[in-house]
Amino acid sequence: MIPLTDTSWQSLSWQDLVIGAISNINDLTQQLNLPQMPHYSAFPIKVPLPYLSRIELGNPQDPLLRQVLCLPAELQNSPGFTDHPLDEANYTPLPGLIQKYQGRVLIIVTGSCAINCRYCFRRHFPYQDFQPDSRQWQLLFEHIHNDDSITEVILSGGDPLMLPDKRLQWIESQLAAIPHITTLRLHTRLPVVIPQRICPDLLNWIAKSRLNIVFVNHVNHANEIDAKVIEAMQILAQHRVVLLNQSVLLKGINDATDELVNLSNALFGAGILPYYLHLLDPVNGAAHFDVDQQQGISLINQLRDRLPGYLVPKLVREVPGDTAKSLIR
Ligand code: SF4
Repeated sequence: MIPLTDTSWQSLSWQDLVIGAISNINDLTQQLNLPQMPHYSAFPIKVPLPYLSRIELGNPQDPLLRQVLCLPAELQNSPGFTDHPLDEANYTPLPGLIQKYQGRVLIIVTGSCAINCRYCFRRHFPYQDFQPDSRQWQLLFEHIHNDDSITEVILSGGDPLMLPDKRLQWIESQLAAIPHITTLRLHTRLPVVIPQRICPDLLNWIAKSRLNIVFVNHVNHANEIDAKVIEAMQILAQHRVVLLNQSVLLKGINDATDELVNLSNALFGAGILPYYLHLLDPVNGAAHFDVDQQQGISLINQLRDRLPGYLVPKLVREVPGDTAKSLIR
């Protein structure tokens, strides 16, 4: 374990920062000057050092710590909560491909993440059954090629930026060779949790791409954005990457007007526009994060009073079987 006080970790590569992420509760509590506690879940702890460094020492209620700390509440079963809240297995015409919405498809390119978020709706997802092998990748590209209504491809996971840049570049080149594909979107938390991920190899293939590149980041609290994150986002913007954000409304973390106003302002300061604020997907182990829909509506109405329209995210819920996200008003 590299102690936080040893700042040499700041110059490590993103790959080494992924490998060096905190992966057990003892190291986490020791690094943060917290009392020892047990780990309660089969979903492991994973916290990379750049993210850990933004957590206040000795504060068990820190909003970033709450996103990664396993609590006994994860063991409670709650009515309406399931292992697979979005029923994604029913929308996969090919391994790795999820096709729910008109005009776009989503590819699950990896089951790995740089951080394990306790509220993750895919925390029980059987990634091993959804990874395309090399023959299935070809089928997948053929499927996209043969459907000219598809203009946008979303890379998801896990976190797509966990793939090596060579692999990402190969995927990009296969998609760019399909004339009707205009946009490549990545749903990623990596540039925020490990800003070192914005490295020359990544920028190299992005700069050469003919596709519109969109990063939908995932930030839930203003404290997640520090100077390194802002720098990483500025570099992405200079490479004409469109920067959006999706958050999850989480009890005890961002379910207050001031927190959401601060989040929108911090995102804008980093060149990112707030896009979605998701109501929690009802996944087993995360019920203690759930915020009532009425409270979500009230929070959004208060944001409208305090922010320009472009800084107010859309409050949404994903409903299995629906052809678009449900806008909540
Ligand atoms: S980074 Fe995204 S996919 Fe990975 S655990 Fe967090 S919410 Fe889930």
